[in-house]
Amino acid sequence: VDRKRIGIIGAGVAGLHLGLHLRQHGVDAVILTDTRPEDYRGARLQNTVAHHHGTLALERALGIDHWPVEQCGYFAHYHYFGGEFPLAFRGHPTAAGRSVDYRIYLPQLMADFAERGGVIEYGAIAEHDVPALVQRFDLIVVCTGRTPLGRLFARDARHSPLEKPQRSLQAGLFTGIRGQEPRGVMLSIAPGHGELVELPILSFGGPVTGLLLENLPGGDFEELQHLRYEDDPRRFRETFLAKLATHHPLIHERIDAQSFDLCSPRDQLQGAITAVVREGHRPLGDEKWAIALGDAHVTVDPALGQGANAAAYAAAILGEEIVRQDIFDERFCEEVDARRMDRILCAARWTQRMLEPPSAELRQLIAVMSQNQALLDAFSDGFSRPDLQWRRLGTPARILRWIAEAQAAA
Ligand SMILES: Cc1cc2nc3c(=O)[nH]c(=O)nc-3n(C[C@H](O)[C@H](O)[C@H](O)COP(=O)(O)OP(=O)(O)OC[C@H]3O[C@@H](n4cnc5c(N)ncnc54)[C@H](O)[C@@H]3O)c2cc1C
Repeated sequence: VDRKRIGIIGAGVAGLHLGLHLRQHGVDAVILTDTRPEDYRGARLQNTVAHHHGTLALERALGIDHWPVEQCGYFAHYHYFGGEFPLAFRGHPTAAGRSVDYRIYLPQLMADFAERGGVIEYGAIAEHDVPALVQRFDLIVVCTGRTPLGRLFARDARHSPLEKPQRSLQAGLFTGIRGQEPRGVMLSIAPGHGELVELPILSFGGPVTGLLLENLPGGDFEELQHLRYEDDPRRFRETFLAKLATHHPLIHERIDAQSFDLCSPRDQLQGAITAVVREGHRPLGDEKWAIALGDAHVTVDPALGQGANAAAYAAAILGEEIVRQDIFDERFCEEVDARRMDRILCAARWTQRMLEPPSAELRQLIAVMSQNQALLDAFSDGFSRPDLQWRRLGTPARILRWIAEAQAAA
């Protein structure tokens, strides 16, 4: 069998997990990317990514488990549902998750990949560069995230019902927030205003707190979207704190107003993400095919922390198939899609649903969960298995059945 020549465009979590999987099995892999490892250190925050335990298992298998969970993992999912009758409770997934600043994580994986014989070439790839790549490689994997090259793959209208973002996003890394015991992520919901995800994250200065605001249009957090930290840090902080006090009391009560601040002006982002599912593959001519991976394939809002976890999952499947097969044609791509699509689509659907106003059945589930630890633990664990989660939550009938089963078991 000839050597397989795999070209991977993009060195995000998708491209690096794939490249490392291929190197682990002795397959040649070239990653083409526009960002050098040393560029990450001074870069602006792009995301605040939590890896659920399924992804940590993949990282252990790849030998990239560099950050011990005892030091920087998290073990609990804290939930707060605000409103007239607030509910607060704590679920326990079956294993720890972890969040490492991607400006540390990605360069480390690039170093691992290079050390294990992977080749990285630097430079931005445009659509007109693709024909030359077709000559070099047997298969081209496009994992350039939400950047224009991903538009090589047509939008799949059937699975992309949204025309615009469901939330505006505001994220930052902060000092001055006392973590919880056991260490955990918190999803705090302010009905009518949006959600706040709090997560312990390892950044350049050590452990800090990531806050991701998922703001509803017209909600109380809109004002923050118009404030620039750089213009008036004090006003930004004070406005932020006042809004947390009103809407996210269980986070606000752990903040020391004196030391509460962004870790640095670079440690913040504002934006919005329109969820989209794209075709998984396309022909490039000359009997060669391109496969989309990660955000370039399916992009979701970050509220439930699904994007990177889905990217790692899909990279593992694609890696396995590249190792197992040796003809990279349309049938190859179809088999990859058949294996990866179910879980990814469930992540997309569940995320979209959770950002809609909750149904009566979902509200009932939340109330029952607050009294039923086994149900709550299963819900928390479902963040790592969106396919199971969607099986339980996909329709009102499924939610009611899940509640009934949990109550019978209790
Ligand atoms: C605020 C926020 C919070 C998030 N939180 C979570 C979370 O908790 N859990 C979770 O699972 N997901 C989360 N996500 C989503 C997650 O960040 C993405 O799903 C994930 O990073 C996508 O990885 P990727 O490898 O597909 O693409 P990217 O990370 O976007 O990587 C793209 C790569 O391609 C390179 N590139 C781009 N264009 C070109 C080009 N033209 N030529 C060459 N190289 C190019 C880039 O330099 C980069 O290396 C969050 C996102 C945001 C915005």
